[in-house]
Amino acid sequence: MKLLDQISRALKAQEDAGLRRRLRVAATPCQPSVRVDERQLLAFCSNDYLGLAAHPRVVLALQEGAARYGAGSGASHLISGHSEAHALLEARLAGLYTPYIEQARALYFCTGYMANLGLLTGLAQIDESVEFFSEGLNHASLIDGMRLSRASVSVYPHGDVQALEGMLQQSQASTRIIVTDSVFSMDGNLAPLKQIDALAHEYDAALVIDDAHGFGVLGAQGLGVLEHLDLRSSRVIYMGTLGKAAGVAGAFVVAHDQIVEWLVQRARPYIYTTAAAPALAHALMTSLDLITSDEGRRRRAAIATNMMRLREGLHLQHWALPNSDTAIQPIIIGDNQQAVKVASFLLHQGLWVPAIRPPTVPPDTARLRVTVSAAHTQDDVARLARAINRAENEFNSHERF
Ligand code: PMP
Repeated sequence: MKLLDQISRALKAQEDAGLRRRLRVAATPCQPSVRVDERQLLAFCSNDYLGLAAHPRVVLALQEGAARYGAGSGASHLISGHSEAHALLEARLAGLYTPYIEQARALYFCTGYMANLGLLTGLAQIDESVEFFSEGLNHASLIDGMRLSRASVSVYPHGDVQALEGMLQQSQASTRIIVTDSVFSMDGNLAPLKQIDALAHEYDAALVIDDAHGFGVLGAQGLGVLEHLDLRSSRVIYMGTLGKAAGVAGAFVVAHDQIVEWLVQRARPYIYTTAAAPALAHALMTSLDLITSDEGRRRRAAIATNMMRLREGLHLQHWALPNSDTAIQPIIIGDNQQAVKVASFLLHQGLWVPAIRPPTVPPDTARLRVTVSAAHTQDDVARLARAINRAENEFNSHERF
């Protein structure tokens, strides 16, 4: 078949460019020490920042949730799949964000990808003339949501508030929506949200914030970037994910009650899909207990310590370690093939660190994306730093690489 021949050629080209990705099979729960493809590895790749994915209390809550609500929801939310467990989770989340968002109401989605698709396509249906102002390094799910909405999109360069202002000034659109990640997922740095929010006020725009990597990690209570910056704004539409720091699955949008009501009516990835298993929502109540408690606080402090130890332990001459105060620590190598070889060099030493290549990151910025979690020990982190230092030495002194 012609299609098969074409695909084989395209896959070969991807391989030749060092861009072929491979699935690895994990046989153990998500935690620092994992068994993957028959090998025991120390992992620095997950987004389970607080180490809750295998936390006994969360696992128990999931079992309890399954016993109480069954295995599946059986239908979409608007048919019969909206469980008490979903409603309780949403009410809890709305309460947590009430100090930051006026008339806060929360909506639980099956995944963050779907939340962004639903949110952006939903918002774009409000008006014929919607314009999105999209940060240059936004996550793929935000980009896809804006594309799917068919609204017009103006992309401003990463972190460039002045350029954003210029675009807002020139805009003829009757509805303006700024869209940005809070913590950039491949870099770990923060968007200048206070300045962006000020622009949103000045130009009567809404501000969509994707806090996938901030929720649970930033803020004294772990409520993410809004708490971290004490950003209280009538303009903000907040998205947090629940499969990363919260250790389970799904995502939520918190916004003004009327906005959320509109999403219930119009967000197709919310409406036309089977609701997530209620047991997940039930387990997430325990994740929220942990995140907002002293245990959450201790775990956030452990991330900060691990992050500092890693940065202190790295002595890089050729590769770059950009500033990042979050759990995401990128080591920029540049070349795709070399990034892959470095990752496999580390793998041979039992260290699992993903090589991230274009299109996930811009061309010539292939990198190791290290994520430290509260579950790593300081010895784990020191071992990784030593191995990366050694790798840098090897790769820059041997022709064979
Ligand atoms: N937004 C950002 C910034 C992300 O990093 C991710 C996940 N990689 C998502 C959204 C999607 O979330 P989920 O994995 O729950 O679909």
